[in-house]
Amino acid sequence: MSPAEKPSGLLIDLDGTLYHGNIMIEGADSLISMLRQREIRYLFVTNNSSATPETVANRLREMGIPAEADDVCTSSQAAAAYIAQEMNEARVFPVGEAGLLDALSKAGLPIVEDEPDIVVQGIDRQLTYERIAAAVRHIRSGARYILTNPDVLLPSDTGLIPGAGSISAILQKASGISPTVIGKPSAILMNYALERLGRKAEDVWVIGDNPATDIAAAQASGCRSVLVLTGLATEANYKDLLQQAGCSADEIITDLHQLIRWFG
Ligand SMILES: [Mg+2]
Repeated sequence: MSPAEKPSGLLIDLDGTLYHGNIMIEGADSLISMLRQREIRYLFVTNNSSATPETVANRLREMGIPAEADDVCTSSQAAAAYIAQEMNEARVFPVGEAGLLDALSKAGLPIVEDEPDIVVQGIDRQLTYERIAAAVRHIRSGARYILTNPDVLLPSDTGLIPGAGSISAILQKASGISPTVIGKPSAILMNYALERLGRKAEDVWVIGDNPATDIAAAQASGCRSVLVLTGLATEANYKDLLQQAGCSADEIITDLHQLIRWFG
């Protein structure tokens, strides 16, 4: 890679970029150590809405990647910040797990079961038909519908499992309403991350393995993009994936060492 100017901040994807499952991807620990030494600002930006930043940071540390909760930026945090900004003191009906509930309560948003202003939905692996029915009833009664992230499938120990996007398909079908999407490829998560980073989009690189989410979100928010071929995108498929996503990456690298070398 040979970009003209070094960035003043990085927004780094997690799954497929820094790790696979519970295994660190080669170079991830060195990359983060180098950024810390050079005092280059970065955040881990994840569409995952189920885990709290503390849980994500613990998981990274267990794999050998230096991380603090403050380094983590989740779609749940961005959703809570978006709701608080759009509609101060909105009453929220959540469909989600600990990461979403934690982000809503930290943003000071009242959580209600009846007559909410907003239904916010992420992945919920304990979801019941009753809760789906309540969410649909609220949306049909005029509550605004916000989706933490549109991922249809996600990796697990037992293979691919339905994600927040698949649950959303039920709510959309039943309510006839399309949600406001917060996570990648939406610019909302990236704009929230840029604000926390304290950097302008043009000075920031987004590093990720998925053209349809990471690279598209970089493009939507005006950041530069670096596609790393260690996860979803590989040497064999990346051109097709970029074309399907209708976007182009500013830089394409085969592994994280290339990025470390480039910082020199
Ligand atoms: Mg990824």
